[in-house]
Amino acid sequence: MRYRKLGDTGLSVSEIGFGTIPILSGDAPVLPEYYSPDTETAVSIMRDAFDMGCNLYDTAIPAEYGDAEYKLGRFAAGVPREEIIIADKARKYTGEEMRGAVLRSCGNLKTDPDIYFVHQVDEKNADTVFSPNGALEALCLLKREGVIRFVGIASHYYSVLERAANDARVDVLQAPGNILECGVLNRLEENGLMRRKGFILNKVYAAGLLTQAFSPGELISGILHYSISSALIGIGTFEQATAAMAIEYPPCDIPFQEALDVLGRRCDVIACDRCQRCVCSYHHEIHSVLRYFNYFRLGKEAWAMEKLAMHVFGLRRHCMRCRERSCVSSCPRSLPIPALIGMICLEADKWRADRKGQPLGRDDGSI
Ligand code: SF4
Ligand code: SF4
Repeated sequence: MRYRKLGDTGLSVSEIGFGTIPILSGDAPVLPEYYSPDTETAVSIMRDAFDMGCNLYDTAIPAEYGDAEYKLGRFAAGVPREEIIIADKARKYTGEEMRGAVLRSCGNLKTDPDIYFVHQVDEKNADTVFSPNGALEALCLLKREGVIRFVGIASHYYSVLERAANDARVDVLQAPGNILECGVLNRLEENGLMRRKGFILNKVYAAGLLTQAFSPGELISGILHYSISSALIGIGTFEQATAAMAIEYPPCDIPFQEALDVLGRRCDVIACDRCQRCVCSYHHEIHSVLRYFNYFRLGKEAWAMEKLAMHVFGLRRHCMRCRERSCVSSCPRSLPIPALIGMICLEADKWRADRKGQPLGRDDGSI
């Protein structure tokens, strides 16, 4: 296992970190599939990773990750505490809510987390999070009190990550990215923003969807050339721990087109790298709609269709009357976005018609 600096925190983190979603049990609204090992097995898997050199373990509060926080706490009690780094997070946006969440996490873990993230910060809640009474300020106070050691912002949004990278209160960023969804990583890298803070990457396997076409080694190699501190891999079995951690994979820049070509042998995904540069005159999140559709094509059908149903038909109505079409000129890949939206609607209509009466998949809200 290789180690990298976590920004200016003074911490050295394993290049591969342990994502705890797959070890959770219960009805947590995270992923439709997870492994649900019992506590003893989950602790053994985390220990196995530790023995392979992993020192970064990432979790979230029970409302988000079920019993993963408790299981991580059990594991932490069995290893020298100073040899592991616990990152925790909560979707709490006001200061009062965040303070309560952190103190409950300390109780669940039976130890204090090292890093605490405001989770899923987006363009709608960011002003609350960054405000004087917001979650970020509450984390800073907990840091001054010695409850946590470092403060983080976790987000899917370039604009939020840019804001966090320029905020002296933030120590660590966390964001998704992989060889398909690499647009935000490229932008952060180009602007030097990833190097300003510690940077923890998640969704390296795209919720497992990319493992149909690529080996763990290819997916991990393909993101290690970025200036990230650590890549979290969701691990629910001993085999997954070994595949991610037993080998030091060399960094390798896999061109976006090459990744598309490989995926294209299995299904036709849209050539969107989720760079988030497209501007919609009606403020729709085009990148999210295209992502849901790609996840649909890659196999997460029910989840993706539930998401698309909430967004794509309203978007199409606006596209039909839109004169500016600012999306097309702002996309560096020159994607024919209005036509793609029309195609997605047709496919969504067909999917729904084929399954008339069948309930849509659960709304997990967070992959
Ligand atoms: S549609 Fe174009 S601009 Fe928008 S996220 Fe995708 S590649 Fe980027
Ligand atoms: S054509 Fe559609 S996606 Fe493009 S700017 Fe207009 S409403 Fe937004």
